[in-house]
Amino acid sequence: MIEINNSPIQSIECFGFDILIKRDDLLHPDFSGNKARKFIYFLEKDLSGIDKIVSFGSNQSNAMYSLSVLCKDKGIKFEYYTNHIPDFLKEYPVGNYKYAVKNGMKIKIFDNLKHAFLKNLSKTVKKGSTLYIPEGGRCETSKYGISMLSKEIIEYKKDNNIKKLKIFLPSGTGTTALFLQQSIRDFNDDAKVYTVACVGGKEYLKEQFYSLCKNESYHPEILDTKKYHFGKLDCELYKFWIKLCQQTSIEFDLLYDPIGFSEMVKNLRSSKPSEDEKILYIHQGGIKGNESMLQRYKRKCDESLTNR
Ligand SMILES: *Cc1c(COP(=O)(O)O)cnc(C)c1O
Repeated sequence: MIEINNSPIQSIECFGFDILIKRDDLLHPDFSGNKARKFIYFLEKDLSGIDKIVSFGSNQSNAMYSLSVLCKDKGIKFEYYTNHIPDFLKEYPVGNYKYAVKNGMKIKIFDNLKHAFLKNLSKTVKKGSTLYIPEGGRCETSKYGISMLSKEIIEYKKDNNIKKLKIFLPSGTGTTALFLQQSIRDFNDDAKVYTVACVGGKEYLKEQFYSLCKNESYHPEILDTKKYHFGKLDCELYKFWIKLCQQTSIEFDLLYDPIGFSEMVKNLRSSKPSEDEKILYIHQGGIKGNESMLQRYKRKCDESLTNR
């Protein structure tokens, strides 16, 4: 049975700033990051009567891996739908895909019916003994674990007499950033959440916020950045990631963190934190996914880096 404790907060000097880093990557060796926060609801819930969880998304998703761990822990089946599985991945499994399959995941290609049903899920649905969970845990049940995250941050803020706190984290669906800001406000704290759109740009992220919560005063602030193409290899981001890991001695994720952290640094350079203000960055896990990203990055960027 997986047990989750509070994750540590570390103070690190990097890129000329003192940054607090919330180490959600250390929540548990197999169940970590924001996907652990999102799915902890199901970990703690009595799932008797459920014999299968079904979800969908990309073939290397962090959510897929975390759900495989959850299902293994609970002794139930896990079925996962995706658009495409490349032949080389089947032949040479790597990253989240490899470990999810090891945990017993059955991965399938969408048919039209399943596609229509799953894409339109906006909440967890139970049908018979099967539980259907939306892509990436983009649903209300995720709020439970994310409010535990905000409780830990608020406690740290109070224990350390922090007057003003700015929290930064990169967004995909925006579920984590939104529920974090919402629950911080629900706990009557004034810490402010800032995020960056790593998927689909600012407009898409704003739409996601509205679909999860109509009240705009609960929405995190989205930093003004260029539009990023999710998962697209960018040697500048890779170089930043190498520097980030060196300066902090922490392994960060390659999909979201180079964007989230570099945009945070840019933001801090243009509006310097005041004396009584602290900056906290949330490490949302995703390290298992680095295996496959690193292979691709090394092929694309290492040669050009050494030729310089
Ligand atoms: C899923 C994920 C995100 C994005 O989380 P959202 O709640 O979808 O915004 C960011 N970082 C990592 C490492 C993730 O696994």
